[in-house]
Amino acid sequence: MKILLVDDVQMERMQLAIRLKQLGHVVEMAESGRQALELYPQFEPDLVLLDITMPEMDGFEVACKIREHYPEWIPIIFLSSHDAPEIIANAIESGGDDYLVKPVDKLVLRAKLTAMQRIAFMRNQLNKKTLALARVNQELERLASEDGLTKVRNRRDVDKKLSEMISVHGRHSVALAVILLDVDFFKPYNDNYGHIQGDQCLIQIAATLKEQFSRNGEVVGRYGGEEFVILLGHSDVYQAELQAERIKSALEKQAITHEFSQVSQCVTVSQGLVSIQPNGRETPDQLYHMADKALYQAKRQGRNRYVVYDPSMELQEN
Ligand code: GH3
Ligand code: MG
Ligand code: MG
Repeated sequence: MKILLVDDVQMERMQLAIRLKQLGHVVEMAESGRQALELYPQFEPDLVLLDITMPEMDGFEVACKIREHYPEWIPIIFLSSHDAPEIIANAIESGGDDYLVKPVDKLVLRAKLTAMQRIAFMRNQLNKKTLALARVNQELERLASEDGLTKVRNRRDVDKKLSEMISVHGRHSVALAVILLDVDFFKPYNDNYGHIQGDQCLIQIAATLKEQFSRNGEVVGRYGGEEFVILLGHSDVYQAELQAERIKSALEKQAITHEFSQVSQCVTVSQGLVSIQPNGRETPDQLYHMADKALYQAKRQGRNRYVVYDPSMELQEN
C-alpha cells in the first residue's frame, strides 16, 4: 500500500516508517497536518496513518479536511499515546476508521494494515462493479429509447419527449410543430427489392433525417413501420414548412433508386405538418392525429409533398 504517515515527532515518524517499509509498503511522510494535506492529492495514498497531537492542526482536523475534500474513501488510522475512550470516539467521529495506541505493537500494526487492505480491496471491487453497472444501465436506457433498426428514437421515447415539449411550450406560450412522414410506395419497394433492402432504405432515410435534425429542440423518431416523426420545438407553421422542404431536398440528394414508385425515380416521402401553441394539456395523440390528417391529404394529393393541417380536415372522411 501507499501509506501517508503523518507525525510531528521525527523519531516516531522514522521508526514507524522503517517498519512499514519492512512490511513492503511505500511510505510518504508529513511532519504537519498542512504538509499532509498538500501531499495527499499528489501521493494518492491507499491509507493514512495520522497522529492526533500535533501543533497548528491536529489529526482530527486533518481527517475532517481529507473527508471533506476527497470523497473517494481511503482508510485513516489514528495514532496516539492516549487511549481515553472519548479520544478514540472523537477519532472515529472525525472520519477515522481505526485507532492505534503508541508505541505501536509490531504484530498489531501488521494485523490492522491487513484488515484495512482487505476493506480497501473490497471497496475497490465495489467501485468497479458500480461503475460497470452504471455503464450497463446507460446502455439499457439507450436501448430502451432507440429504434433497433434505424437507431433513431423509438415511438415510446418520442411520445415521452412530445409530452415534455407540450408542457414546456405551454408554459412559455410558444409554438411547436410535429411532422409525420410516410415513405411513398414502400410496399412495391419491398416487394421488388426485397425486405432486406427495404430495411436498408429505412436506415438510410433515418440517417438523413437525423443529420438534418440534430439541433437542440429537434427530435427524430420512428413512428412505426415506414413512418417517421419529427418534433420541432419553437416552430410555427412557416418554420415547419421550411423544414419539410429541407427533408424533401435532402432525400432528393440522397437519391435512393425506386423504379417502382409512381411519383419519382427515387424514394420520396409524404408529410403531414401541424404547428400549435399548446396550452400544456394536449396529448401526443392529439397532435399525431392532426399531423396524420394532413399526411393523408398529402397522399391523396399525389404524394412526394407536404400538407399543413387544417381543422376543416376533421370534416373530411379518411
Ligand atoms: P403509400 O405510398 O400510400 O404510403 O404506400 P405504401 O406502399 O408505402 O404503404 P403500405 O402501407 O401499403 O406499405 C407499407 C410497407 O412498409 C408494408 C410493410 O411491409 C413495409 N414495412 C413496414 N415496416 C418495415 C420494416 O421495418 N422493414 C421493411 N423492409 N418494410 C417494412
Ligand atoms: Mg405507412
Ligand atoms: Mg407508405
